[in-house]
Amino acid sequence: MFKKILVANRGEIALRIQRACRELGIKAVMVYSEADRDAKYVKLAEEAVCIGPAASAQSYLNMPGIISAAEVTDAEAIHPGYGFLSENADFAERVEKSGFQFIGPTPESIRIMGDKVSAKQAMLKAGVPCVPGSEGALPDDPVQIKRIAKTVGYPVIIKASGGGGGRGMRVVHTEAALINAVATTKSEASAAFGNPAVYMEKFLQNPRHIEIQILADKFKNAVYLGDRDCSMQRRHQKVIEEAPAPGIPRKSIERVGERCVAACKKIAYRGAGTFEFLYEDGEFYFIEMNTRVQVEHPVTEMTTGIDIVKTQIMVAYGEKLPFTQRQIETRGHAIECRLNAEDSYKFIPSPGRITLWHMPGGPGVRVDSHAYTNYFVPPHYDSMIGKLIVHGDTREQALARMRSALGEIVIEGINTNIALHRELMVDAKFMEGGTNIHYLETWLADHVR
Ligand code: ADP
Repeated sequence: MFKKILVANRGEIALRIQRACRELGIKAVMVYSEADRDAKYVKLAEEAVCIGPAASAQSYLNMPGIISAAEVTDAEAIHPGYGFLSENADFAERVEKSGFQFIGPTPESIRIMGDKVSAKQAMLKAGVPCVPGSEGALPDDPVQIKRIAKTVGYPVIIKASGGGGGRGMRVVHTEAALINAVATTKSEASAAFGNPAVYMEKFLQNPRHIEIQILADKFKNAVYLGDRDCSMQRRHQKVIEEAPAPGIPRKSIERVGERCVAACKKIAYRGAGTFEFLYEDGEFYFIEMNTRVQVEHPVTEMTTGIDIVKTQIMVAYGEKLPFTQRQIETRGHAIECRLNAEDSYKFIPSPGRITLWHMPGGPGVRVDSHAYTNYFVPPHYDSMIGKLIVHGDTREQALARMRSALGEIVIEGINTNIALHRELMVDAKFMEGGTNIHYLETWLADHVR
């Protein structure tokens, strides 16, 4: 096994990876920006290297800085976490060219999946169901664009091939608005992602967001670890996630899970990954693949008992997956609430000093967070300061545990979204299960003045 890994990330995921390394007997080198000097995982680290000032561009996105940190500390591998450089194919390539193992898929896989047009084409070839739309990028000819839209059927959504983070998308309801919308999305895509290519999909009106977690090794073994429902979103950002997705027949999950596994084998994928789908009227439609560990991975860990981060490290080292599909069983129900330093209803970020941090406990309760009493939440990064995850035998039990756990939480000194989570956990429609991707925003519009 590796003796030393460099963790190229911050926040709760940096701590999560550090914990996985400890369990595996691997030394974890933590890197940090000047703003993260006091983070828990830095204080707990055997070795930590400051890689630059607070601004991400000069620290967590600074490729030469991170690679030199690995060189001076004699690390053998680099774990990118999520966000930052985790889905940057050039970074993965530079890591490997410098002689380190990148804990993730090959640069080629990242490149194919990072471009949504090529990802969709690869998935169609592998038999994964996709949202009906244009075959590849849209042509320049307006007549052809209109013809494609007519075939797909309005409303349609124009999406940037290089897009991400919920940006670079535009819904079009009528032919009159089509050509302008394509032109605007193209110029935005060019400015934001350096790639003007756009494609068209049918706009699904009331889908749910369902995703499949997969793990694969270097020997073309791949498995799926069941599904997650991440439909509770605000501005395309997930707020609550759960596993399994309520109300979806297990046979349908098996069918789509098997397609995902087949796709992994076909593209020789290795490491952890997630296939994201929209689900409407009993059908799955692939939208994108994330080639990294995800924020919501704990709900799958809780229902399968499999440590996804440890497995990522093991397969990156060259070990075979330690289980087959038949050995994977999902048990009970898990829910995750993202804890954000922000106003519960206005969503204004609330960085600053946490004067009191009290976290819940008890059976089936897990807290993944780098925060503590007296921790200063820096204003430079994402507002997520941790995750509260619960597991129960049934969804009802998980909901009851989440309510009880949220009731125990005390965070003082900053604003958080705990109040919002408390309300959502007693919301009749959420408790019923199966809300669609618009539910939370509609709820907020009705409940917040
Ligand atoms: P990103 O990489 O920016 O997150 P995705 O392709 O994953 O982009 O889409 C983000 C979100 O946009 C989806 O979760 C969904 O809410 C919405 N969306 C994307 N494509 C469609 C579609 N064809 N129909 C309806 N909503 C869509």
